[in-house]
Amino acid sequence: MTVRTRFAPSPTGFIHLGNIRSALYPWAFARAEKGVFILRIEDTDVERSSQEAVDVILEGMAWLGLTHDEGPFYQMQRMPRYKEVLEQMKAQGLVYPCYMSVAELDALREKQMAAKQKPRYDGTWRPEPGKTLPSVPPGVQPVLRFRNPVGGAVVWEDKVKGRIEISNDELDDLVIARPDGTPTYNFCVVVDDIDMDITHVIRGDDHVNNTPRQINIFRALGKEPPVYAHLPTVLQEVIDPDGTKRVEKMSKRHGAKPVTQYREEGFLADGVVNYLARLGWSHGDDEVFSREQFIEWFNLDHLGKSAAQFDDTKLRWVNAQH
Ligand code: GLU
Repeated sequence: MTVRTRFAPSPTGFIHLGNIRSALYPWAFARAEKGVFILRIEDTDVERSSQEAVDVILEGMAWLGLTHDEGPFYQMQRMPRYKEVLEQMKAQGLVYPCYMSVAELDALREKQMAAKQKPRYDGTWRPEPGKTLPSVPPGVQPVLRFRNPVGGAVVWEDKVKGRIEISNDELDDLVIARPDGTPTYNFCVVVDDIDMDITHVIRGDDHVNNTPRQINIFRALGKEPPVYAHLPTVLQEVIDPDGTKRVEKMSKRHGAKPVTQYREEGFLADGVVNYLARLGWSHGDDEVFSREQFIEWFNLDHLGKSAAQFDDTKLRWVNAQH
């Protein structure tokens, strides 16, 4: 089996070092396994996506030498393909139209919260044998919901987090197309990961909650899901105006710089790659290593299990060793 990995950034802001670390591991794994590394730009959030953000991704990756073998694929250009799969799912009865309005969903949510229940869609429009559905309200465009399996659990052996088991009762019938017919995020990701034959999904752990939903869609489409490795967050120190220090998720809001700025400041690509590699993966006590050594040594078993903290002083020190 050829290993096929991908980096799938959303160009909704410029990419910083914490983000690009999520490209480094799938890239290194593909190289270590003589596999294929794919770049996919997840630009479906049209309002927040920008060409400048795409440019920082492309330039940053090229500078760091994280070369891709296929792509870049742009999700906006794949809309006809998503619609084709939606039609196929409709024909197979894997999805159903739901006419519940936002106001009705809000009312349901409030009722459930008042009863101390977890808010979730109640299946009003889910067809079942012998069930009479409400009459279709005139002039309302429905969303399409995925028929999530009932009973049982989704289980996967995460390469970083270990065994994860989520009961299907916890999962709603996910909206996979909006009233205007546009597909939603989790659905596009699954269609892409299937079409691109992805064998290993290595991504940030902010996506752990999406994974059981994605796995159910994979199986409904008759495909086995890939191996997953969810990387812990990269943190950074934040100093408040009054001097108090706290640790937060690394972000532009807290002063994280675009990747390309490090190039302008004279950092070496190999130094940055070395530093980022160590920020969530280890090879014994080795702190300074070459790109070739990184690829030679890389494996998914030594990915760190806890959040790593970005440290500018350490970055400078590692950079100076190259
Ligand atoms: N586009 C997502 C992000 O930038 C990543 C999705 C994925 O890797 O599955 O967070």
